[in-house]
Amino acid sequence: MPRQILVTSALPYANGPIHLGHLVEYLQTDIWVRFQRMRGHKVLYVCADDTHGTAIMIRARQEGRTPEQLIAEMSEAHQRDFAAFGIAFDHYGSTNSEANRTQCHAIWAALRQRGLVEEREVARLYDPVQNTFLADRFVKGDCPRCGALDQYGDSCEACGATYSATELKNPRSVHSGAAPTMKPSRQLFVKLAPLQPFLTQWVSGSGALQKEVANYLAGHFLDKPLQDWDVSRPEPYFGFPIPDAPGQYWYVWFDAPIGYIAATAEWCQRNGVSLDAWWRNPGCEVVHFLGKDITYFHTLFWPAMLHVGGFQLPRRVQIHGFLRVGGEKMSKSRGTFVMAATYLKHLDPSWLRYYYASKLSGGIDDLDLGVDEFVGKVNSDLVGRVVNLASRSARFVETTGLSARYPDDGGLFSRAAAASEAIAAAYEACDTREACRLVMTLADAANEYVEQKAPWTIKKDPSRATELQDVCTVVLNLFRQVTVYLAPVLPELAAKAGALLGEDLSSWEAAQQPLTGTKVAAFAHMMTRIEAAKVQAMFEETAAAAQAAKPANQPPVNPPASQPTSPEPTPAAAQTPLDKEPLAPECTIDDFTKVDLRVAKVLAAEEVPEAKKLLKLTLSLGGDQVRTVFAGIKAYYKPEQLVGRNVVMVANLAPRKMKFGMSEGMVVAAGAEGEAYLLTPDAGAQPGMRLH
Ligand SMILES: [Zn+2]
Repeated sequence: MPRQILVTSALPYANGPIHLGHLVEYLQTDIWVRFQRMRGHKVLYVCADDTHGTAIMIRARQEGRTPEQLIAEMSEAHQRDFAAFGIAFDHYGSTNSEANRTQCHAIWAALRQRGLVEEREVARLYDPVQNTFLADRFVKGDCPRCGALDQYGDSCEACGATYSATELKNPRSVHSGAAPTMKPSRQLFVKLAPLQPFLTQWVSGSGALQKEVANYLAGHFLDKPLQDWDVSRPEPYFGFPIPDAPGQYWYVWFDAPIGYIAATAEWCQRNGVSLDAWWRNPGCEVVHFLGKDITYFHTLFWPAMLHVGGFQLPRRVQIHGFLRVGGEKMSKSRGTFVMAATYLKHLDPSWLRYYYASKLSGGIDDLDLGVDEFVGKVNSDLVGRVVNLASRSARFVETTGLSARYPDDGGLFSRAAAASEAIAAAYEACDTREACRLVMTLADAANEYVEQKAPWTIKKDPSRATELQDVCTVVLNLFRQVTVYLAPVLPELAAKAGALLGEDLSSWEAAQQPLTGTKVAAFAHMMTRIEAAKVQAMFEETAAAAQAAKPANQPPVNPPASQPTSPEPTPAAAQTPLDKEPLAPECTIDDFTKVDLRVAKVLAAEEVPEAKKLLKLTLSLGGDQVRTVFAGIKAYYKPEQLVGRNVVMVANLAPRKMKFGMSEGMVVAAGAEGEAYLLTPDAGAQPGMRLH
């Protein structure tokens, strides 16, 4: 009986490109979807870009374009990367779509109708310079626990503490450097406590969750009254306005999962099918794949929304761990934060599909990408054990084709056919590590047969032509079985094997019956060996790009965002700052104190139209002390980015007459030729304070 399955992967955020960490999930899902299709089930696989929120709004603003332009470009890049890795969605949407707005309105109306929405006034952090409320990630300061400097508003990288942004010492906005104020805001909350009995039952009784996940939720969230969920954000915000709450937008995590329904709706509309046939049909299994970092959004809030909205609850939530590289967290500075596009420049996507499959067990443990293991698996498993079967037999039957009757093979084919259900069960459980292991055992048995029969020796004796045909018929059939079993992981290899044998290998059942009496095409190359040097080149390119750019996972502090002369990641750009500018000769404390460095506040900034590099700054040193300074930072900052912020200036530099007026000092910035990063003192510093 064919099953009807709706499958989703978590929606990638439109704030950055796809990297190898993301791909764990999309490849795991794609493999599962392809497996189900091979088994004859009806599957719909949808995904979309997650597009809303403060991060997108701020980034677009910094890049001088609209959020819509930013997310359109990202969606295209995401889909290009997914396609290159063979990840085949039936539909790829966006949370910034009319379909999503419609579904959000419907679920919201249902929440209101059930009396689950409550309005309350809460104080939120506010940037008085940029006039925007501040999400936790956009406030930095000193850790309230260990005192480490320059930590984000949600957690400390030094001691691991998590806290609220209001607890930070010396807080400041990463947008303006200004100290945030508290500003009251009307917020809308979804009450979860009335849904707690339902959620408790679903978490522990539905069987939708992995055991460790169900236990975690029961022990960490459901053991006490569930807190209300703050689902509104005050403007300015990039998202959907809440229809019955002027000035409020739905928090990105409210509308993101609804994107699953919206993407399905778009597909249904295009194909003339009813959405209810997928989302309100008890015969349809909804299966979500996601990473462990977003567990509670998908296992508490989301089922609550689905329940209230009258949709099917997920039949299964398949949660995976994170990717590590060489045993460590992926890291930009170590050059292990590899983008999908960078991988594609150096390596074959099939290799990564197989590597991840061979490591993923269906649990939530992290998985490690080790270079030696990666190279070893590709070369020994795929090339040495699988493709070799075909390359060592196919050309001997190019003219004769396969034997008319399947020869005696000592039970090899039937043993491999009998392994079908064990392999299928492993795929079903997302234990592709076990599936790959079982298939490699079959490949080993086939290779032993080839070694023992040595078709290349039989070939030398024309009187043994029939034997040669029989031996190669056996080997190619064993190769074909292995390829069918690996087809969810390696669809491209299955297509090549299909072309060699003149058939379509898209059905799991193909492994049950041997192929006989058919032609064999000329053997075409199927997969190359991996060279460790190419893997190294990929990591080197990643490291060089990280050196050349500011890390994109940190909200940049007043970045040179629309910098027109952004340096390309060239070998020269990979130099360290000390390479570029060696340390100056030693000086004495007296030398240093001759230079009077002061905190100054930018009162006004304007472009000097006749000067390519200069901005004219009006700086306050406190009181009525005002200075005019011409600064060579036009290429890196827009005047409006500077007004209101503090900088550091050389206050006792002899005034200098310039073409455009008198420059009464100098603003200091970090960086060598071709870059400039202004300095911002921690919050609390006053204009006029001296640097010691
Ligand atoms: Zn700390």
